[in-house]
Amino acid sequence: MTEEFFQTTWDKILNNIKTNVGESVYKVWFSYFEPKNYSHGYLKIEVPSKFVKDWLEKKFTQIILRSIKDVIPEIKNFELIVSTKPTLKVNYKEKLVKKTQTIEKHLSIFEINPQTNLNPRYRFDNFVVGPSNELAFTACQSVAKSIGKLHNPLFVYGPVGVGKTHLLQATGNEALRIHKKIKLKYLTTEEFTNKFINSLKNHSVEEFKIEFRDVDILILDDVHFLSGKNASQEELFHTFNYLYNLSKQIIFSSDRPPQLIPDIEARLRSRFEGGLVIDINPPDYETRFAILKLKSQEKGVIFDDFVYDIIAQKITKNIRELEGALSSVIFRYNQGEKITIEKVEDLIKKFSKDYYKKVSPKKIIKTLSEHYDVKEDDILKKSRIKHLVKIRKLLIYFLREINQLSYPSIGEILKKDHTTIIYSYEKIAKEIKDNPLLSQEIEILKSKILEN
Ligand code: ADP
Ligand code: MG
Repeated sequence: MTEEFFQTTWDKILNNIKTNVGESVYKVWFSYFEPKNYSHGYLKIEVPSKFVKDWLEKKFTQIILRSIKDVIPEIKNFELIVSTKPTLKVNYKEKLVKKTQTIEKHLSIFEINPQTNLNPRYRFDNFVVGPSNELAFTACQSVAKSIGKLHNPLFVYGPVGVGKTHLLQATGNEALRIHKKIKLKYLTTEEFTNKFINSLKNHSVEEFKIEFRDVDILILDDVHFLSGKNASQEELFHTFNYLYNLSKQIIFSSDRPPQLIPDIEARLRSRFEGGLVIDINPPDYETRFAILKLKSQEKGVIFDDFVYDIIAQKITKNIRELEGALSSVIFRYNQGEKITIEKVEDLIKKFSKDYYKKVSPKKIIKTLSEHYDVKEDDILKKSRIKHLVKIRKLLIYFLREINQLSYPSIGEILKKDHTTIIYSYEKIAKEIKDNPLLSQEIEILKSKILEN
């Protein structure tokens, strides 16, 4: 292979592929795609594993061939060969460096925009598209391009952890990128409801109305939360009509279709149904695999495919759990542990709900006490010292997430009213979602708690 081929021709081919498949798919499947040999119209291309080879052949043969033909018209065919060199693993030291850089990068780009409430980490180019979310993805892309004109409202529904929030926020981020000057608000329905109730209390309903009517796009996440909340439903109904009549774009998400949300006024339900209603399903194996690969690359670590394969085989419903399992493998890896098939299988076992139930609240308290070097008794005491308040919030979070205790039972352990517990839980859950460092701390703690 000549230098020149490498630098210009090959770059052009890769660019063609990228244009065809999109940034995220490209990153996942084509980042180790290398020309090996060209003779008599046949091009041999090296790929990192048998899995990648099979997948590319199954899905992308035509695209690859077209992309090559465009640059080398005399091409007859290409052949994918599995690389024999173990180049994929960067050495440990190098990876650690990479890792810190990634964290720093995350810190600066993960700041939530206070005006729009959007998190820049949710983008179309890091959303893996597969059969389970293809339609929703396409609809969101169209909405971002022609806001208020095509699908209004857009109503996306699906179970927890399938990427609804990611898609909605990506739509907002993309719309802002394209249209620059538009005004946009993203918020969860719970935030909408709370803000409305507060405005009633503070006699500031007018300000509330202005805030949500002075936008070109309103994105309301988890709208099923409105079930049974009559006053907020009514307010949303009026907000909706106001925006809709001005051809402003409205986007909703929900954990179920409009007709299945209980205790919703008929007129609001019919608004939900009035545009495009579209579902997202749990991803199939290939999509899960691709998501894992992408998330892993984002975190600056590349494993052998067996790691992604085992996780994608075992965790099938919720992408957040998929990410959690991956993080725990990355954590072990960064501790210097050797990542073997057995180790990954063992770690994955701990992500099942049945396993969680075997962990005792005592174990959680003990782990927190050791990790933060404070006495167990001090954690349970009603102290206002900032450090202890944080640990207590983490305790509530784990008692809920791992032990799956009810709010009143957690209240008994901490000698607090269950409404206080709900408040603390929701606060810390939001913080974890918004703060990548805290979420990493959670993963570390979780690994310790789930250790034998
Ligand atoms: P939901 O709102 O449906 O509960 P989220 O949008 O919060 O789910 O998704 C959970 C996690 O999974 C997020 O970190 C998100 O980035 C990730 N995720 C979901 N779907 C995809 C996808 N198709 N590609 C990449 N990441 C995804
Ligand atoms: Mg969500």
